Amino acid sequence: MRSIQANIDTIRRAITRACEEARREENSVQLMAVSKTRTASEIRKAATSGIRHMGENYLQEATKKIAALDDIDLTWHFIGAIQSNKTRDIATHFDWVHTVDRNKIARRLNQHCLEANLTLNVCIQVNIDKEPQKAGIVPEHLDALVDEISTMKALHLRGLMAIPRPLADTPDTLESQIQNFTRLTRLFKQQINRKTLLPAWDTLSMGMSGDYIAAIHAGSTIVRVGTAIFGPRSNQSNDKIHLA
Ligand SMILES: *Cc1c(COP(=O)(O)O)cnc(C)c1O
Repeated sequence: MRSIQANIDTIRRAITRACEEARREENSVQLMAVSKTRTASEIRKAATSGIRHMGENYLQEATKKIAALDDIDLTWHFIGAIQSNKTRDIATHFDWVHTVDRNKIARRLNQHCLEANLTLNVCIQVNIDKEPQKAGIVPEHLDALVDEISTMKALHLRGLMAIPRPLADTPDTLESQIQNFTRLTRLFKQQINRKTLLPAWDTLSMGMSGDYIAAIHAGSTIVRVGTAIFGPRSNQSNDKIHLA
């Protein structure tokens, strides 16, 4: 198996090339290592290759690793489903949450942050394909949630996140993947054109191992890559359940 370091080098080159093709600045795209199910020592290897953004899906697993890697300056992103009884620990352990999709969760995160004198960067997860089993707010309800969160003092509303339905592997996959992501980019830009005050609106969290190149073409500012960095997860077939 290729080393984590070699994988990261390959991905960085691919990101550079995609940015050139899309006429974007290379530093306009961050690489997040999705470290769910990985050990602290694997994460340490990714950090040695210069990765600073780590994404975790499961709170219990994550807090142990965050503590074990306390000696490195890492930015931790929560990218999993949020249960309301977990909001306090999420607010106090993470720098970012990408999966806020309802007012109740946002209010709780804001409250915990205010109590602990913290701030939290948040993205709203959009269920762009309106898949019933998937988390995320439907596009029709996005404006209202943006308006609500933008009044919450401890939350910095940074942008949008989505996991589009995977496309069938057809010869035009790259082009259709780009079209697929561009729907989220459009929603992102629409918010800029509304009157809502969004001082920190700068993040489009989209693109995973199989489609991050397309996501960059469509305007992604942070790609969430797990498998392409660390290799296949042993329980990858469970992902669908965990993503829901
Ligand atoms: C697991 C996961 C990823 C990474 O997926 P890979 O296909 O392994 O790159 C990205 N985003 C979210 C929300 C995830 O749960």
